[in-house]
Amino acid sequence: VSTKAAPALALDIGGTKLAVGVVGHDGVVSGMIVEPTHREEGPDRVIERLFAMGRRSIVASGLSQSEIVGVGISCGGPLDSNAGVLLTPLHLPGWVDVPVASMAASAFDVPAILVNDATAGACGEYRFGAGRGADSILYLTISTGMGGGAVLNGKLHHGAAGNGGEFGHIMVHDGGRACTCGRFGCVEAYAAGSAIAARAREFIAAGRPSVLSNLVEITSADVAAFAAIDDVAAQVWSEGMAALATAATDLVNIFEPNVLVLGGGVTRSGDILLEPVKTAVKRDALPPAAAAVEVVLARLGDAVCVVGAGAYALDFLRTGTEEGLYA
Ligand SMILES: [Zn+2]
Repeated sequence: VSTKAAPALALDIGGTKLAVGVVGHDGVVSGMIVEPTHREEGPDRVIERLFAMGRRSIVASGLSQSEIVGVGISCGGPLDSNAGVLLTPLHLPGWVDVPVASMAASAFDVPAILVNDATAGACGEYRFGAGRGADSILYLTISTGMGGGAVLNGKLHHGAAGNGGEFGHIMVHDGGRACTCGRFGCVEAYAAGSAIAARAREFIAAGRPSVLSNLVEITSADVAAFAAIDDVAAQVWSEGMAALATAATDLVNIFEPNVLVLGGGVTRSGDILLEPVKTAVKRDALPPAAAAVEVVLARLGDAVCVVGAGAYALDFLRTGTEEGLYA
């Protein structure tokens, strides 16, 4: 196996799920394994299990460990991608200053690279998904929380410490709902899955009648599913989509991308999410930006961070630096 063709191992550390796979230069994933994170066990035990999953993934791909040229690790921030350290990831309470890249490098005896999960998502969609062939793309992930990443004029944007592109913290209602970041009125506080579910519960607790009150646990998917027939669901969903559309329009005005890709678990609701955002962006963004942009759903689904982290590691190893990556 020549170095040029050799694949990378990709490890994605989510708050509820760990996902691993072997990623080739064509973006194809083999040996993908997804298991619960059990983050409460703490970083040492979780990372030990993550690496064991990685070894099983290599075997399942029909490879030996020596055929892997690098490890790409994706995780939510805050993190320091240059140092390869998880600082205080919001989705992993109690994990502080975990040097996950050096741990992976010793475990697999190859270079290991840490990348913000939404940046990995942007990388995956740009190289192998909905942004393929475009010059500039923005990737907005809408799941339990919100995140984002950007490839601008063919270059992946990281920011100074690797957390650039936190599009979930664009303020859409000054003084509005409390956000996980400590400010009030960020788009995440209205359009993220947890926020949509929380708002529905608040309306019901305040005495608004709703079919959602019959559910044991309300999810954003339930709110989307009942939006056509239930007043509370309709209001929560439409206000969430209006917030998302406002943030998306700002982003399109600022960056003038060729493609705005919407991904993450909440986008499984499909057109009921895509259409209002697309309509608002095309109507409200400045004319040249509105004319240039395509607003689309992500294509890589649950594998997006695995594909992105693997592709990022391979590109990084090929160029030897992130300077000029994709340039
Ligand atoms: Zn915020």
